[in-house]
Amino acid sequence: MKLIRFGPPGAERPGLQLENGRRVDASAFGADYDEVFFGGDGLERLARWASDNAERAPTVAADTRLGPPLRRPSKIVCVGLNYRDHARESGMTVPPEPVIFMKATSAIVGPNDDVIIPRGSTKTDWEVELAIVIGKRASYVAERDAMEYVAGYVLHNDYSERHFQLERAGQWVKGKSCDTFAPLGPFIATKDEIADVHDLRLWLTVNDEAKQDGTTRDLVFNVPMLVSYISHFMTLCSGDVISTGTPAGVASGHAPVRFLHEGDVVELGIDGLGHSRQRLRAWA
Ligand code: ZN
Repeated sequence: MKLIRFGPPGAERPGLQLENGRRVDASAFGADYDEVFFGGDGLERLARWASDNAERAPTVAADTRLGPPLRRPSKIVCVGLNYRDHARESGMTVPPEPVIFMKATSAIVGPNDDVIIPRGSTKTDWEVELAIVIGKRASYVAERDAMEYVAGYVLHNDYSERHFQLERAGQWVKGKSCDTFAPLGPFIATKDEIADVHDLRLWLTVNDEAKQDGTTRDLVFNVPMLVSYISHFMTLCSGDVISTGTPAGVASGHAPVRFLHEGDVVELGIDGLGHSRQRLRAWA
């Protein structure tokens, strides 16, 4: 299944994107896509509801805003330097075990919402990423069992302010958590929709110019390893998001460096997870 949420910010309703691409309203299912939904038998119940009702459910108009495809989760855990080529362009070495950091969940927006360049920003940057959605509470999970804890996958642009992140004393969180810095979607693809999560192309353009073009084959630490590893430091709640890192091609990695400006349009996509598009706006 492909789970969507649609409608005005803060008042999104659940929906589904069907095999033929039609988006339908799943409000009648009676539950939003949140921690309780993912942690219980929400996906199984939704699949049953869909097989009985989806074909005759109301269509969501094509111009309707898409929201983030899940309700605000308890946390977003990000993985840094998880592609060798990106570590190299960042002037860093691949770490012996995953580098992880947090991104504030208040940064989450819909896939095609405007992204606000924050006040005082000079170095707003992009990062196309495969993100994992956790399907059940995970604590001290063995790597061989870790896929049982994955509900699905979603496209994420891990926007980053490099000055805040790297030049303002301390941890990366300041440069990762600004409002609108986490566009998620267009949809969550449940695990069964993706034949091999470790063989997906991911790409990003800025104003139609190719910037990133990588493959999840190059992940240093793969999906089950990351779920298991992070679960040894914190409990992953159902609905939590793990963003698995970005391949090469971010602004800060290339001379001459050109960060994002008002009016720029960023588009990105991953095989099987759709694509998204954000216009940059100045803070006001
Ligand atoms: Zn990232």
